[in-house]
Amino acid sequence: MGFATDAIHVGQEPDPSTGSIVAPIYQTSTYVQPELGKNKGYDYARTAHPNRRALERTVAKLEGGTAAFVFTSGMAAIDSVLRLLRPGDHAILSQAVYGGVVRLTTQFLVQFGMEFSFIDTSATEKVAEALRSNTKLIYVETPTNPTMSVTDIAAVTKIAAAKNITVVVDNTFLSPYFQKPLALGAHIVVHSMTKYLNGHSDCTGGAAILARQEDADRIYFLQRSTGAGLAPMDCFLVSRGIKTLAVRMKQHEANGMAVAKYLESHPKVKRVLHPGLASHPQHAIAKKQQTGFGAMLSFELGGIEAARSLLNHVKLCSLAESLGGVETLISHPATMTHASVPADMRKQIGITDGLVRLSVGIEDVEDLIADLDFALSKV
Ligand code: PLP
Repeated sequence: MGFATDAIHVGQEPDPSTGSIVAPIYQTSTYVQPELGKNKGYDYARTAHPNRRALERTVAKLEGGTAAFVFTSGMAAIDSVLRLLRPGDHAILSQAVYGGVVRLTTQFLVQFGMEFSFIDTSATEKVAEALRSNTKLIYVETPTNPTMSVTDIAAVTKIAAAKNITVVVDNTFLSPYFQKPLALGAHIVVHSMTKYLNGHSDCTGGAAILARQEDADRIYFLQRSTGAGLAPMDCFLVSRGIKTLAVRMKQHEANGMAVAKYLESHPKVKRVLHPGLASHPQHAIAKKQQTGFGAMLSFELGGIEAARSLLNHVKLCSLAESLGGVETLISHPATMTHASVPADMRKQIGITDGLVRLSVGIEDVEDLIADLDFALSKV
């Protein structure tokens, strides 16, 4: 079946007891057992529940994985995946990963004896140079948040395969509609489902999708042991959102390209970072490994005051953290999403004080451009 058909039907079969086309929300913590030692597939909601199982089947199918597990947030999913590491293991991460991943690794996981190197994974040779004898995992975010740098997933998996290293890809920015890392040789995909998979900014959620059964077994062990599995109502919301993923992504893409081109032609904008623009440094790789360019972009205004003027004058674009919803969100990475990244690291990866990030929504694009045009006139 095609992607849109799978997104609507896999895991979403009509309820067998009533025929309800939408699965009921199983808002219960426990399941009555007909006799000692027997149950009907579920015993306690931390371990598993029907809404979670349904969503996990959908997400596994869309990413082409063996199994998927869904969590209360993207960070909970990422945390579970990084716990595959053991004390003494080393991991290489894209230097411009989401700020929460920098915080989790450098301020928390290091306490357990794990080592982390932050590398520009868009330069594949730097990944090879960073390998150590104890490297066990390479964690790639592509495109990165918010600098939009693109890593060649197949090239990284080739380097990793020679040394039996696990490759994890954060596919949040493109969703499986535009990029399928497992098909490019990665072993694990993570998502902040808070973003495009849900698409409506009404709950947080995360997913880990595994190609290998042994990884799936370990992640499921962690999910039921630590209790960060996604709750029934939130699973229902993400499942509902996923049904329109294909149509939303097409419109996000069209609007994203139009806004990127408009900004690139504006004299007050110094640089636009969007993988769909020919000016993007990794445009060729993006074209090769993605089936679309998405709707995330960032642009440089030259300084904090220019950024402040723009952000204080937009009306339709909402000044907010997060991304991937139907509504356009605008943000200032240096003081918002990436405030937890140390200033020298921000500088090194290009998160300047004049950088503004846009998650282009699916409103009428003329209205978005008019809003940005007005705000830019105030810069
Ligand atoms: N990965 C990316 C690319 C993100 O942008 C985010 C959050 O913004 C996360 C992971 C973390 O997800 P969550 O906020 O759902 O925990």
